Amino acid sequence: MSTNTARAAGRHFLHIPGPTPVPDRVLRAIDTPIIDHRGPEFQKLAYKALDGIKTIFKTKNPVIIYTATGTGAWEAALANTLSPGDKVLMVETGQFATLWKNMAQRLGLVPEFIKGDWRSGADPAQIEARLKEDKAHEIKAVCVLHNETATGCLSDIAAIRKAIDAAGHPALYMVDTISSLGSADYRHDEWGVDVSIGGAQKGLMLPPGLSFNAISDKALAASKTSKLPKSFFSWEDMLNLNKSGYFPYTPATNMIQGLAVAIDMLHEEGLDNVFARHDRLAEATRQAVKTWGLEMLCRDPKYYSSTVTAVLLPEGYNADQFREQAGAFHISYGMSFGPYLGKYFRIGHLGDINEPMLLGGLSVTELALDVAGIPHNKGGVQAAIDSLAKDAKARLSR
Ligand SMILES: *Cc1c(COP(=O)(O)O)cnc(C)c1O
Repeated sequence: MSTNTARAAGRHFLHIPGPTPVPDRVLRAIDTPIIDHRGPEFQKLAYKALDGIKTIFKTKNPVIIYTATGTGAWEAALANTLSPGDKVLMVETGQFATLWKNMAQRLGLVPEFIKGDWRSGADPAQIEARLKEDKAHEIKAVCVLHNETATGCLSDIAAIRKAIDAAGHPALYMVDTISSLGSADYRHDEWGVDVSIGGAQKGLMLPPGLSFNAISDKALAASKTSKLPKSFFSWEDMLNLNKSGYFPYTPATNMIQGLAVAIDMLHEEGLDNVFARHDRLAEATRQAVKTWGLEMLCRDPKYYSSTVTAVLLPEGYNADQFREQAGAFHISYGMSFGPYLGKYFRIGHLGDINEPMLLGGLSVTELALDVAGIPHNKGGVQAAIDSLAKDAKARLSR
């Protein structure tokens, strides 16, 4: 490492797809004296956060708040509903789907992985076909990612629900919405999801350290007979104590203060406006990438993610080296994984981000591509501006 300690002026542009920049208002909400987690002040806060988070998942049922990162909430979803040896159907959309599959295996489940090439989302027809073959109903859960953060592919969660129903299959439906919740529309109840898994540090604009399980009545019923071991992650303990506004052990009180404010902020903007903002920033990003003449990892527009865009570099250019070189211009991108290791970088455009931030990030990306000697066409930033201008004019004329 360099011993250069020169001060870097200005803000660093954190364009990784999470953790995302935390708004000042959330930082201020967290920066308070510690409160008594068994006292009335906390109880009031807990009720607000527990009620508020339901509106983000769009569910009437309780949502469990864990002091853990998203990975913990993955484990909680599986451990609370399933039993050793249970078959689960998962879809290889990318790195995060692979990690969840590996976790299922470690927990004593038997995952079946529908193969994928890391360049599209989950295909409802494939899921339906596999479930139809499973006449004995050995598959106990279908587990998919709403947004595969590693590739920038978003899957159609409502369509997969329809596929499960069309197969007449009773499997539980579990969805990882860690990098889409609070950025892309998500409807736990309406889409018939049994367990939805969320995390704090992406669309919810919080530091890492909280994660969530939204649960259906069917998932709750399954938890009564599930035999996988659980203690810290037990829903039962949480649900019992949450009823009175408390937690079975010390909750991350300051993080929950931040959560309550982040939820307020999302509603003050309006969830639909939040989603539209993500859509137009994502579209502007894709227009820049196309104009640069670079290829996106997600190859089918129907799966385009509104939170992250993965950009392949031309053959012979190393994306990790590019990320390092771009770092000199005070920007961070997401890394590459798996079969495409070293071949792409990811531009995160989610959370507390607006037009000037995105245009700044894309401008610096164009600068870094030039300085790093990556072959590309000029004009990507202009294409992003044009895309945003077109969107703004259409909104003005409505
Ligand atoms: C970030 C992420 C995870 C992992 O969450 P951690 O908070 O790092 O444990 C899992 N799934 C998806 C889709 C993610 O984006």
